[in-house]
Amino acid sequence: MRLAVIGGQGAGLSAASRARRVDPSLEIVVLEKGDTISYVTCALPYYVEGKVPSEADLVIHTADDFQRERGIEVRTATTVQEIRHARRELLLSGGERLAYDRLVIATGARPDRAVFGSKPPMDAFHLHTLEDARRLRGFLEISHPRRAVVIGAGYIGLEIADVLRARGLEVTVLEASACVLGRPDADLTKDVGDELTRSGIELRLETPATSFEGGRVNDIPCDLIVAAAGLRPSVELAAEAGVRLGGTGAIAVDQHMETSISGIFAAGDCAEAVHLVTGRPAYIPLGTTANRMGRVAGACAAGARERFAGIVGTSIVKVCRLGVAMTGLSVSEARREGFDPVSARITAMDHPKHFKGRPTTVELTADRRSRRLLGGTVIGEAGVPGRVNVIAEALTCRMRVEDFEQLDFAYTPPFVPAVDPVLVAAHQLLKLLD
Ligand SMILES: Cc1cc2nc3c(=O)[nH]c(=O)nc-3n(C[C@H](O)[C@H](O)[C@H](O)COP(=O)(O)OP(=O)(O)OC[C@H]3O[C@@H](n4cnc5c(N)ncnc54)[C@H](O)[C@@H]3O)c2cc1C
Repeated sequence: MRLAVIGGQGAGLSAASRARRVDPSLEIVVLEKGDTISYVTCALPYYVEGKVPSEADLVIHTADDFQRERGIEVRTATTVQEIRHARRELLLSGGERLAYDRLVIATGARPDRAVFGSKPPMDAFHLHTLEDARRLRGFLEISHPRRAVVIGAGYIGLEIADVLRARGLEVTVLEASACVLGRPDADLTKDVGDELTRSGIELRLETPATSFEGGRVNDIPCDLIVAAAGLRPSVELAAEAGVRLGGTGAIAVDQHMETSISGIFAAGDCAEAVHLVTGRPAYIPLGTTANRMGRVAGACAAGARERFAGIVGTSIVKVCRLGVAMTGLSVSEARREGFDPVSARITAMDHPKHFKGRPTTVELTADRRSRRLLGGTVIGEAGVPGRVNVIAEALTCRMRVEDFEQLDFAYTPPFVPAVDPVLVAAHQLLKLLD
């Protein structure tokens, strides 16, 4: 039996590796249109900055590693042009046909180019693939631009703005909406905006980029444009094969990551996932989710019966000095979903004073009726991932605020204060609920 996997990054390679463990006798072929597999996409901004010195530092495994260590064939520079499921075959670039029994689609996503309308400027950059990062770093090293405009204040836009600033450029970030990081949250937007200003990055909210002429974006002169205005799932191949897309526009899957066509699975940035707070499918493309989904898709494609539990949308981004993390729903998202949200926002020290504590801000949101936690944000210089992960776990377990407040946290002055900032926020939230 042959398993074919389309896409040779996080989701596709997790699927192939997990399938190999489940069924050592399976023939597995991964097809990747790019020239490099298994690189750390999340570190691309730091490669552009120069903190990650070389491309080799980004690559985890090569195609040869997969063949030698796992008996998985990986074919790079191979584009799948069509899925002919009735015949169980793929049409590859160059006209070759490849037969399969089971298929995992892990084609990822691509940057939304709608921002440029029908006339994309010749010299605009994206940061989505290794090739994009090579191009951008090459341009910075050869052309020494001085002013950059970044379009989009999502996490990729903010990361690249920080990187360009660190490389000495003057940077303006244009964001069409009134908020950053795609989260309708005025407090979070203010904190991020203040941090950008402190670091010398200009953020213009409610300012869509509308013209790209004469070395200017709108009225801003610049010699570099980086567009990071959102992602679109790469679903054309699947849709043309008759695979059903969900309401988010990504591929609809069941809890075993199987699509509407039996024997075809999908995982990663091309697929949607059930949001455990709303109970409905969502599209929140992240590397963490891609790997988890890929493992389940691979296991099920190889004959096991594993289940993908879902997501709560947990993410973290470095904004200059700060870690900015979020999970679950913001207040306005919760309201839109029919909850009656109550939220508490506190700032407390991340260490006791005598251990040079620095302020950490935590916001927790709960539903007034059920008292269930719905979401949270954490902003600070240290300890941010651990704190947001605890909140994410509470959301996954559908905890009520009173249960969350009872959690038994560790304490010792060199590392944490006696009452952790997330518990301070929980105490505050309880007061508002009572
Ligand atoms: C700059 C940047 C920073 C990020 N930082 C973070 C982070 O800090 N934390 C986090 O959780 N996530 C982060 N992400 C998101 C994360 O990288 C993605 O969610 C993850 O890479 C998705 O994996 P994937 O395998 O689903 O898709 P992709 O990585 O997009 O891989 C899909 C692959 O499929 C191939 N492909 C597509 N169509 C075909 C075809 N027809 N034939 C053959 N091959 C095909 C593509 O060439 C591609 O290699 C970041 C992303 C970017 C761009």
